[in-house]
Amino acid sequence: MTVSTITLNDGATIPQLGFGVFLVDPADTERIVSDALEIGYRHIDTAAIYGNEEGVGKAIAASGIPRNELFITTKLWNKAQGTQSAYDAIDVSLGKLGLDAVDLYLIHWPSPAQDKYLESWLALEQIKADGKARSIGVSNFQLPHLERIIAGSDTVPAVNQIELHPAFQQRDILNFGAANGIHIEAWGPLGQGKYPLLELPQITEIASAHGKSPAQVVLRWHIQTGTIVFPKSNSRERIAQNFDIFDFELTADQMASIDALDSGKRVGGHPDEVK
Ligand code: NAD
Repeated sequence: MTVSTITLNDGATIPQLGFGVFLVDPADTERIVSDALEIGYRHIDTAAIYGNEEGVGKAIAASGIPRNELFITTKLWNKAQGTQSAYDAIDVSLGKLGLDAVDLYLIHWPSPAQDKYLESWLALEQIKADGKARSIGVSNFQLPHLERIIAGSDTVPAVNQIELHPAFQQRDILNFGAANGIHIEAWGPLGQGKYPLLELPQITEIASAHGKSPAQVVLRWHIQTGTIVFPKSNSRERIAQNFDIFDFELTADQMASIDALDSGKRVGGHPDEVK
């Protein structure tokens, strides 16, 4: 199975499909990430706040996979925003991961109530210059947040990781990203299981037509939309299923019928409000 790749605006290459570990219990993380690496995933998305960077690091070390074949993302938590606290936070994350550098370091949320995201972005520029992150980006940034850091720094974020699934497609942020060279990573690609996405007839009919599961159809829709995804599951069977999405293609009509499911409803917090 060959996973498609995307070239970021700084020239780095990212596998378009990865494995996310939000809510993976720290005690189970090494085993579950080891399963994902065995299945073939080479891109792991974690965050300081998930509390499981050590488990990710142990799985990486045990895998024996050459470092340059892996793409590892972690994120600066809101409480660590600021200049020195960001420098300290990346060192803590690298220590837990057992790495000299991450492939991608993100500001987790803009947290406008703190008003430190521009300062944090300038710190991430320095972290990249210091070689501790190969690429830098943001997460949950709305258009005004993006515009402010682009105007106030020398670096356009490589990615913006946002909530994105069929009911909540955020086309304005996608279009802004396309116009400015910011690739979109879709968190909650399966809607976090918080609405019956995988039971919608528009999805199950397409799944039957291809002999695939509804989850595979939704993930395939993301891939063909051009977003980067890293679905989470604790189940080895589902982790394998979610990886097996490169041997079929949705038609233009099937893509359009999933595009039409956008209802503008979030399942997660609003980036203007998350502190
Ligand atoms: P998701 O959309 O990946 O949904 C996970 C849920 O889907 C789980 O309950 C799982 O049991 C179920 N599922 C997975 N595979 C399935 C399958 N094949 N069939 C049926 N059900 C299946 O939600 P997520 O984990 O929140 O998002 C993915 C990743 O995005 C996270 O792990 C994390 O890395 C990242 N994330 C980032 C942010 C952020 O603020 N930047 C927020 C949330 C998540």
